[in-house]
Amino acid sequence: MSQSQLTDRFGRTVNYVRLSVTDRCDFRCVYCMAEEMTFLPREQVLTLEEIARIARTFVSLGTEKIRLTGGEPLVRKDIIELVREIGTYNLRDFAMTTNGSQLPTMAEPLRKAGLQRLNISLDSLDPVKFASITRTGKLARVLEGIDAARDAGFKGIKLNTVVMKGGNDQEVPDLIEFARKKNVDITFIEEMPLGEISEHDRGQVLCTSDEVRELIGQHHELIPTPEDSGGPARYYRMSDSQIKVGFISPHSHNFCSTCNRVRVTVEGRLLLCLGNEHSVDLRRVVRGHPVTNDKLRQTIIDSMDLKPERHHFSTNGDVQILRFMNMTGG
Ligand code: SAM
Ligand code: SF4
Repeated sequence: MSQSQLTDRFGRTVNYVRLSVTDRCDFRCVYCMAEEMTFLPREQVLTLEEIARIARTFVSLGTEKIRLTGGEPLVRKDIIELVREIGTYNLRDFAMTTNGSQLPTMAEPLRKAGLQRLNISLDSLDPVKFASITRTGKLARVLEGIDAARDAGFKGIKLNTVVMKGGNDQEVPDLIEFARKKNVDITFIEEMPLGEISEHDRGQVLCTSDEVRELIGQHHELIPTPEDSGGPARYYRMSDSQIKVGFISPHSHNFCSTCNRVRVTVEGRLLLCLGNEHSVDLRRVVRGHPVTNDKLRQTIIDSMDLKPERHHFSTNGDVQILRFMNMTGG
């Protein structure tokens, strides 16, 4: 595989792209979306062919890892076709982040189409709480989806949990036991101030990774490991289990200095940083006449100069970024 040709002003190499394939979702998680959302009109959304073209161009520039996300990627029609196409790019890692609701029927087709790994969001094991966090989600369906993913034989499955104080923080030990029993990794995430929400005050519910580690520490000793996915998570292991426990701590542990990733929204905006508004319009380039691969390649190479040194999330819950996570592609 070629060396990445994408390097920014701070010497960071970008070899990982997250592609959002839709802004829509069958859930309305309280930290991610407002209850009433307006979604993008179809003409503003990249076609699957346009997404594949952008993905191929990144791969030609040395990208080794692609993650499909959203919104909920599995509500996009014909998503399997896109997975099958990207599955032929011989990537070191090809993953998807999903809420799991469609996995009971889609886990196996996704695996067969070439997807290697899945991250599945799971914030609660209590059906009532799960329904109140996701507003529309059914826990039983997601648990069925997790089992279907295990049966389908993915290379890796990881659960993602956003921890909210007074919300689901007391469930952290149960979630750990669940991950141990299912033999899947789990990562705990600090909530990020993306988009204006009304349901809770982000500053007040912030549960830091240190606090989550303390909750787990009452039941299991967590042993730090130097394992590194090249991403923002820090990992721990337990002596009596195979699983890894990760922490993504944008507030308490700044991870920007090793950032190797960029994101493309479903409108084709190339976002250089989760916590900044800098972006470059790739849709204009892929829809331009004539479309040349050189133009798209050069636009992506040049955009690296815009990658900011770090994000500036504050801990008081103030919104600095107006786009919601479903637009950003988590
Ligand atoms: N719908 C899919 C899912 O829920 O897994 C993929 C998209 S979702 C935006 C990706 C991840 O971002 C999920 O694990 C979700 O919990 C997380 N997320 C959403 N909003 C967030 C926020 N404001 N802060 C931190 N994580 C957030
Ligand atoms: Fe949908 Fe994922 Fe956002 Fe929840 S976190 S509303 S499942 S996009």
